Amino acid sequence: MRVLLLAAEFAPLAKVGGLGDVVGELPFALKSLGVDIRVYLPFHQSIDRSQLDLSEEDQVRVPNRSSDQAATIYRMNFESRDLFLIDGDPITKVEGIYSDPISDGHKFTFFSLAALRSAEATGWKPDVLHAHDWHTSPAVVWLEQNREGDPFWRATASLLTVHNLPYMGAGAEDALDYYGLEPVHDYRLPDWAQHQPLPMGLATADWVTTVSPTYAKEIHAPAYGHGLEGLITGRSDRVTGVLNGIDLTRWNPNTDKTLQVNFNRKTLVERLKGGTWLRESIGLSSDLRIPLISIISRLDYQKGIDLALEALSGLGSQSWQAVILGTGDPVLERMAAEFAESNPDRVRCFIRFDSQFARQIYAGADMILIPSRYEPCGLTQMIAMRYGCVPIVATTGGLKDTVIDYREDMKGTGFVFGYDDELDFLLTIQDALAVFGDRRRWRGIQKRGMAMDFSWGKSAQRYIQLYEQAQRARAGELKASSLD
Ligand code: ADP
Repeated sequence: MRVLLLAAEFAPLAKVGGLGDVVGELPFALKSLGVDIRVYLPFHQSIDRSQLDLSEEDQVRVPNRSSDQAATIYRMNFESRDLFLIDGDPITKVEGIYSDPISDGHKFTFFSLAALRSAEATGWKPDVLHAHDWHTSPAVVWLEQNREGDPFWRATASLLTVHNLPYMGAGAEDALDYYGLEPVHDYRLPDWAQHQPLPMGLATADWVTTVSPTYAKEIHAPAYGHGLEGLITGRSDRVTGVLNGIDLTRWNPNTDKTLQVNFNRKTLVERLKGGTWLRESIGLSSDLRIPLISIISRLDYQKGIDLALEALSGLGSQSWQAVILGTGDPVLERMAAEFAESNPDRVRCFIRFDSQFARQIYAGADMILIPSRYEPCGLTQMIAMRYGCVPIVATTGGLKDTVIDYREDMKGTGFVFGYDDELDFLLTIQDALAVFGDRRRWRGIQKRGMAMDFSWGKSAQRYIQLYEQAQRARAGELKASSLD
């Protein structure tokens, strides 16, 4: 099976959040199951070109309403994945991975269409187009609007994975029009959504996936559907939740070179040394009886950072310390920094993106707060469990699917709270602090978390089944249209 996978991020070359991790890791798993997969990524300005062993593959032209633009395709084998990087004016003009909505609209629409032109130029006909989020939805829409009369693309099925529904690509409307994509007139879509890439993709993809089963259910309701619940409910038989995995080789505390001390489930006592090192290196008390609570996150309203700071404040004089690592919304960045300033004896805040430091926190902190208001999947809690850092999570989306509340039958892997009761978050942290005081029980939680199998194998198998289902759906349509 040939799969053409398009995305905005690809770890470690270009990562802002979980999308990068997923796109960096899933292709490995698919490839090991025999899928012939090609990954396309925009050649973001932020990618360090001097480190890459590139060969220029092709030049293609991307038509627009007035003429066309050149795209250069570079090919490389990146840690045994077949990676294609696309360069061209709309991509080089933009500085980071993401910038303003209008430039991003042009950048990602151009990228999506250039990837299709590149597949044509190489004569590599995909069975399935696998797009991710709004950035590459234009490819799904192009396919739907053009494949009927195009022998190259006629049989190609599309699967669109939604990593974060509210990011729909508002601002890309003009870009879609500029590159010749028509609005999608589906009665189940509100007017505004008929011109935005993600809803257009959701309405036209042969199959839709979200990144956890619970999130797939949640987006059927207005509270999480962001205006698309009608469409999602109408296409329910084509919407499936597939839990993300983590690459157990990349995320392994026993071999992680960024750690001062390596450890595994059987040598958990070694982890304490990393905990001491972490506390000392950031100027906190190295008394290991004081629990170190961490936050590693995009600082975004979604992630409930404000609620976390509020809950920590509510702990009052109890014994705890905290370390926060994150970047994002300037208001939340300031709030987190001020929280650290007003608690100099026990809180440290680092406003930056730092993958190495994140790993050291996972390996050295006792718990991690993930109080997301919604969470399509969340990798943070899975990585934390793998590193013996106990997650305290809100009961939503993938958090609900991956963390088992210790309080249920004392066999859990973390602590899970709901937002129905305002105080539940604070009370849950207090429960966690109380259990932390009992080393034996705490080690039990850590060990069960470390033993969880979040590897990609099962999810990759599921994707293959869904690729096949998408193909069957496409074949069914072809058959129906031939009978017309
Ligand atoms: P999202 O994709 O919504 O940001 P996930 O939990 O799926 O959330 O994935 C977040 C990923 O980004 C994890 O690998 C996490 O460790 C990483 N991460 C988040 N913030 C930072 C940061 N400031 N520095 C380093 N890594 C970070």
